[in-house]
This record gives sequence, structure tokens and C-alpha cells, in this order.
Amino acid sequence: MRSITRDEAAERAELLGVDGYQVALDLTGDGPTFTSRTRIRFRCADPRRGSWVDVKPHRLTRVTLNGTPVPVETMAGGRLPLTGLAESNELVVEAQMAYSHDGEGLHRHIDPADGNVYLYAMSFLDAAPRWFACFDQPDLKAPYRFEVRCPDGWTVAGNAPATRGADGSWLLEQARPLSTYFTTLIAGPYHSIRTEHDGIALVLHARASLAEHLDRDAAELAQITADCLDEFHRLFGVRYPWGEYHQAFVPEFNAGAMENPGCVTFRDPLVFRSRATDAEHAVRASTIAHEMAHMWFGDLVTMRWWDDLWLNESFAEYLGHRVCDAVTRHRSWVEFGIVRKAWGYTADRRPSTHPVAGNGAADAATALSDFDGISYAKGAAVLRQLGAYLGEDVFLAGLRRYFADHAFGNASLADLLAAWTAAGAADLPAWTEQWLQSSGLDTLRAEHVDGTVTVHCEPPPGTHALRRHAVTVAAFDAAGRQVAQQPALLAGPSTSVPLGRSEQLVIADSLDETWAKIAFDDAAWRALPAAVGGLDPLPRVVVCNAMRLAVADAELAPQAALEVALAVLAIDPSDAVVGVLARWLSEVLIGRYLPSAECDTAAERLAVLLLDVATAAVPGSGLQLAAVRGYVRACADSDRLRGWLAGAAVPDGVVIDTELRWEVVRRLATLGALDVAQLDAEAAADRSTQGAVHAAACRALRPDAEAKRAAWQTIMADAGCPNYELYAIANAFWQPSQRELTAPYVERYFAEIADLAAIRSGWVLARVSEYAYPQTAADPRTVELTEALLARDDLDPGVRRSVLDAGDDLRRVVASRQKFG
Ligand SMILES: [Zn+2]
Repeated sequence: MRSITRDEAAERAELLGVDGYQVALDLTGDGPTFTSRTRIRFRCADPRRGSWVDVKPHRLTRVTLNGTPVPVETMAGGRLPLTGLAESNELVVEAQMAYSHDGEGLHRHIDPADGNVYLYAMSFLDAAPRWFACFDQPDLKAPYRFEVRCPDGWTVAGNAPATRGADGSWLLEQARPLSTYFTTLIAGPYHSIRTEHDGIALVLHARASLAEHLDRDAAELAQITADCLDEFHRLFGVRYPWGEYHQAFVPEFNAGAMENPGCVTFRDPLVFRSRATDAEHAVRASTIAHEMAHMWFGDLVTMRWWDDLWLNESFAEYLGHRVCDAVTRHRSWVEFGIVRKAWGYTADRRPSTHPVAGNGAADAATALSDFDGISYAKGAAVLRQLGAYLGEDVFLAGLRRYFADHAFGNASLADLLAAWTAAGAADLPAWTEQWLQSSGLDTLRAEHVDGTVTVHCEPPPGTHALRRHAVTVAAFDAAGRQVAQQPALLAGPSTSVPLGRSEQLVIADSLDETWAKIAFDDAAWRALPAAVGGLDPLPRVVVCNAMRLAVADAELAPQAALEVALAVLAIDPSDAVVGVLARWLSEVLIGRYLPSAECDTAAERLAVLLLDVATAAVPGSGLQLAAVRGYVRACADSDRLRGWLAGAAVPDGVVIDTELRWEVVRRLATLGALDVAQLDAEAAADRSTQGAVHAAACRALRPDAEAKRAAWQTIMADAGCPNYELYAIANAFWQPSQRELTAPYVERYFAEIADLAAIRSGWVLARVSEYAYPQTAADPRTVELTEALLARDDLDPGVRRSVLDAGDDLRRVVASRQKFG
């Protein structure tokens, strides 16, 4: 398939104007395809020129342009050429489309729990032509009318309220213009719950097999939704413009969620079927708020081209966390710091880093790789800095003006800057250049001499950007108690901050307000294990991020980081922090960085500590759950874990429910302490979609040559494997304790991965390339193989990006080992 380029899109937008789509779908059959008939009314500014319509069918059956047949055999690469256009046109495209199984296009899932069929459409980023013919680019917006025939007993929802005609077919009509990439439809025997708030219908959907879990969570979900709607109305001064607000939890969804106007789709593990941590509730709440922010940022006003996707994602990320922190019980900035910023910091230090705005995406396929930690977390952190710099009034007045000027249209960075300038913002060009148009992160280093603190700011290597940072600088005593704090605007290479105290520990951004690497000297690192317990939550998040970055930069020995991290785990009351650090310790620090000879002892210390935390925690709390999960992942005592499955005593308050049981089963499989028959019995006891994913992971985790051979075969050759089972298998393949067993597959990865594009595409291709990378083979030979692969000029852009990023992670491990042993 050819991916549309920015230049092609600009040319087509100049030539065509779309007046409306009528899409008729027949979903009554039970074969692998469905009938899609699209009627498009559109204008052409210069009929002498030709154009094309995007369509990716199983079989194109009949096309007419203004009543004249168009030869279907001229279709190539997902494009059907259109010639002989008039000023005003009607195009009718009839096709057989294939249901998808990779989460893009019209996805079809058979629920293993009850055999029910569920469909949902995912059009992002360029998948709309997989279910209807269209001019697929963000700035050709049009009203829509969907007519859907489907089996009796099904529910249908989409971008407009669905009504049922006398003949049983469903009609959804949206008079407001939509971009193709956020058109959607859900259809199937979904379980639905309808409420109302402020005159807006709020509807939740999930598969029937998740009904009891959705029912249990419905009140919490409705309350968060209503509170967020109120807050967005207050902030934006523009009412929610899309009619009803449906939130559908759908199976095998690739992203966390998708902001289709009127009908947000979420991945359905967000309907918790077992106990969840506070962090998981917080992530779900901020996801709800994030998608709702898109109803304005992205859906009401849409970026013209993917190079301005920050206008969607950075705003949704910032506002999602801000609104959640303001109106729900969740302290979202802690989760933002420990999870999201860490993701963005990693991305911003890689060779693939790019500016927040104007990422340069020349075509749609390339743009997909920029939905990363930079477009989300860095963009959000940068907007937070801008809010502090402009002041709340100017910041919000600019946003309101932007919505007023561009409602239901498209806009670019220049349009938003113009709106802020009109609202009174000064000096935006310099700020934009510093924060939006340059990449990498500054390093902030506090130095203290005789009561005077100087904060040094170093730009990223190879650049001269000198950004201003609005931060709070604070000093802490040996027990971590704050003894002085001072707001500061850091400008230039060194800024003096009159803190009045000289302490070993000074944190240059103690409230986690900016976007920078915080560097500590050796004395501070030595002081931190004793001090972290006294710190407030946000300074402790700053320390945790600084620690992970210092390890990755080979500035901090993994052994020293282990002491800091264990000290945090022992006292932190946040299950977000405990969950993230426990996983980082098992999988990254111990799994990759520590010398092999020290791993068992370190894992044992981690396991003992986490079991202590779980035992001391409030019974049934999120903290207890996060600690128990971490314990299971670090535990080498297979007898004890087998005992837990058989009903032996667990810490008071711990319940071995469905998901925790799978955590234990996964660990036993990794240790080689579970045979195939036992695994089959576990799978038989949980015949759910998630159960199938866990079972697939467990089979690939086993330290057994045949298990690894079968897993590799699935990763590289099985085009029909459901996407989440595939991700689970790829993630399970490389285990630190199984290096010898998987050694032959290191060379095979580099020999075979380029050809994966023959059977996979889009998200799935990029993810599998990343997950299947031999991360446990951290040696110079793997670095060489990575460089040789990247030197090829025939790699799919998604594969290239994944190999480049995974290779950077591996190179850092090799550098650390060379320095610290
Ligand atoms: Zn988003």
C-alpha cells in the first residue's frame, strides 16, 4: 500500500471539497468479508486534473463516477484513480471488505467465553479505507450518514446517535464534519449502560462476558465522565459538540483508547475483572479525560497534517492529567511523572528523537512512529511550562479563541500561536523555538557552596538551545526533610538561587515542573538511600527518574541504583511508584544491567522486601497488590508459588483472583516449574480473551527448546495470530534467565525481521519488531548486527524505528557493563 505524503494531501485538499459520505454496510453474513457501499458527493476546483479515492478492499466490485463506470482493475496500492471529474461529482464505490484481526479497519472478534461476535471500526491512522472508500486525510472533513444492517439482537453505536428503521437497519447521521481517521462503529451483542448528565447521554458498552465487571465499575466511570465534562466546559467555554457520549470497551484494541467523536473506543482490559491498583484506576481516569479533551483538541479542531499531531496529543495528555488531578480522587501528576515522563525522557534521548511540533512526517506511515513519549509526555510537560509562563488567563483565552476561529475545521501551529498572541501572549517565537522546535532534554545540576546554590543548565549534546525553566529549587537534610525551597526562573547556563542553606541534597526541580534530566553528584547519590524516606511524593518521583536516566547514561553504577530503588520501595505509599520500580528492578536493572553473578542475590533481596511490604500494607490495598505482583515476578521459590495456586496461606488481604493467578502461572512457566498439561488446565479454567493472551505468553515463556521454536514460528510467520497474543509471545520470548537457550535466535532476528513487513503492517509490525528484539543479548556483537540492519535502505519505517530504539536501549546496557563490570 502506498502511504499518502504531505505534499499529495496538500494538493488533493486544494483540488477537492467533500460535501458528504453515505456509507451502507451489510454485516449480516458470517464469512470473512462484508459488503461496503460508499456514496461520496464532492466538488473539484479544476476538473481537468485527476485525483484518486482511497480504498483497500478484499475485492472491488463496482464503481461509478457521475453514473459512468470506472474500471476497477485500475486500482493499485489502495488507490483508485479518478479522471473525467466534473465541478460537482457523485462517486459510488461497492466493495467486499475483509474483517480485520489486527485492530485496524473493521475488527472482528469471537469471544472465546461465549462464542459471541463483536465488531468495532478503528480508522486511525490510515485504516478507514479498509472499511469504506474515502478521501483519507485529516483535512478533508465531511458530514456522514452510516446505514448498517446486522443480525437481530446486536447493538450499534458510532459517531452519531443510532436509530433503528422499520426494516431493522440502523442509521447514524452526523451533520458536523468528521475527519476520516476518527470515524467509527461498534456492532455486536454489547452490554450497554445508559445514564445522562447535563443533557448529554452517557453510554458505556462492553462485551456481554464482561457485563458483571462493567456493572460494578459503571458508577465510578459515569462519575469521572460527568466531572470531567463539567471541567472541560468550564475551561473551554465551548459545549461538547458531538451529541451523545458513548464509551465502548472493545476487544484486542491496539491503543489505550481512540477519540472518535461521540464514541470513544477503549481497550477492554480497562474493565477490571480482578482487583486493580490505585494506579490502574488513575490511568483509566486520565485516559477517560484524555479522550474527552480530544473532543475539542483533535475532533472539533483537527491538525491539518500529521506533523502537527502535538496539537492533538500534547494537549490531550496535558489536559487529561490536569483535569483528572483537579476533579477526581487521583493525584495524576505523580502517575504522570513516574510513568509518562519516564517514557518521554527515554524517547527524547534516542537517536530517533524529534521536536514536539513539526516532526517533519513526510507521509502517514512515518507519522505513526511519532505517536511516542515526545508527542505525549514531553508535549504535555512543555504545555505545563507554557501555562506557568503565560499565566492561566492568557493560556485559556488563547485556547478559547483557537476553538472559536477554527471550530469544525483544521489548523496548524501558526494558528494556535496567533490565537495566544491575540490573547496577549508576548515573546512566543522564542519560546516556540526553544521548546517546540528543538529536541532533546537539558541537564539541570545544582551546585552548592557556602549556602549559595547555583543551578547549571546544559543543553542536549550537539545543540545550543538555552531553554528557560520555571522550577522550584529545594534543599533537604540527611533524613530527606525539606529545609528550604525557592521558586526560580532558570535562564542561561548558570542561575544563582538564594536558598540560604547548604545541604548535601538539593533538587533543582523538586516539584517535577519542567522537562529536564536532573543530575546529582556522587555525594548526593550516597545520601539518597537514607533520605528518600523523608521526601514528599513529587521530589521522590524526580529522584526515581534521575536514577533511571543516570543508569542509562552509565553515570550511576547499577549496584548504587539498586540501593536507592530498594530504599524507595521500602517506604513509598504510592502503588504507582512501587509497581513501576518493582518492574524496572526485575526487568531492567537486574534483568539487563547487573552482572549475571549478582543477579540472584539482588532478585532475592527484592523479593524479600516486596513480600515484607505486602505483608505490612493495608490488607486489600493497591499498595499490597502492587507489592505482591512485584514479589511474584522476582520470586525464585517455585514451591511457595505453587502452594499459592493450591490454596496455601498468602499475606492477609491478598486474594489470588483471576489476574493474580495468571501472574503466578507466568512466573512458574518462566522458571520451568509448570508443564504443558498444567498450563492447559489453567487455560481451560479461564476461557476469556485475556486468558488466551496469558496462556500464549506462558507457552512462550517456558525454558524449553520446542516452546521457543514454536513461539518464533508464530512471531515470524503466523499472519492470523490475534494481535495481543502475538505481542505477549514476542514479549515473552527473551528472558534473562534463558540466554543460552535463545542464543541461536539473536542472528535470526536480524536475518528475518525485515521480511516481517510481508505479513504484518502498521502498529502490529512496529510493535512486534520492538518486542522481539534480542534485548537480553547485550554484547558488542548485537550492537554490530543492529547497525548492519539499520544500514539497509529497504526497511519498513516502522521496523526501522523499532530497531533503532531497541538498539539504543541495548547499546546503553553494553556501555554500562563496560564501565561498571
Ligand atoms: Zn490521544
